[in-house]
Amino acid sequence: MSSKYMLFARCIPSGECLKCPFKGKSVTYGPFKSRRRGMSVGINLYPGEKVCSFNCVYCFRGSTAVKTLEPTVDTYRISAEVLRKALEEALRNVGELDAVDFSGSGEPTLHPKFSEFIDVVRDFTRELNLDVSVGVFTNSTTLDREDVVRALRKLDYVEAKLDTVVEWKFKVINRPYKTLRISDIVDNLVRFRRIFSGTLAVQVMLLRYLRVSNYTVQDAELLANTLLKIKPDVVHIYTVYRLPRLSSVLRVDEESMIKYARVLEEKGLNVEVFTR
Ligand code: SF4
Repeated sequence: MSSKYMLFARCIPSGECLKCPFKGKSVTYGPFKSRRRGMSVGINLYPGEKVCSFNCVYCFRGSTAVKTLEPTVDTYRISAEVLRKALEEALRNVGELDAVDFSGSGEPTLHPKFSEFIDVVRDFTRELNLDVSVGVFTNSTTLDREDVVRALRKLDYVEAKLDTVVEWKFKVINRPYKTLRISDIVDNLVRFRRIFSGTLAVQVMLLRYLRVSNYTVQDAELLANTLLKIKPDVVHIYTVYRLPRLSSVLRVDEESMIKYARVLEEKGLNVEVFTR
């Protein structure tokens, strides 16, 4: 395959992104059945190389090539015109469609044109009379920026990652950019929730990695108390279900996931568990 990006890649049935020949190289991908979002098309703003403020040990997109907190473009610097063409390819013969989500290879909110790209998606789906939810999967590390918060408020759905609130575990599991602290990210999420009227989901990936785990009862209690401050609409609990970046990352058994979820539910949180 050429190293040039593609506008659109049809997802392989296995859903194993690390096995996909087009892995991370297309601007749009899908349509695929998302466990959370229904029939979806994804948008990848970094088809050149993965740009992210994290390098999570479980990331199924491989290693972060550019770890940064600054607005950053990749080699291909995709434009509004390119995104529009990629959407045309992806949505040309689409039947049922529930959602269009910014996700893909890296952290979408780091792209300097993120806000403009949301408008492109909105305009294009409106032209096609598609009644879809437009959302983003984010690691929430840019919520201290007013321009990002303004952009996110235009969306219907924000799914924010929060795997642990224990500072040292955060460093081990998410391998964040050096200045990031989970306590600051939580504070920004609390502020964001107050002004965001769309659906806010928090996603938690439970795992074991070497001697570290994030699914003890104490982990659950700490996270639950934090979530009570954030007030998300729903909490999504996962474990590793695609090939992780590091082979020493292990899945958590179903019983432990349910036990973890119970702690959150007992505090009154709305929880969905995805065991596979
Ligand atoms: S935040 Fe997402 S894209 Fe970035 S390293 Fe973690 S799982 Fe991968």
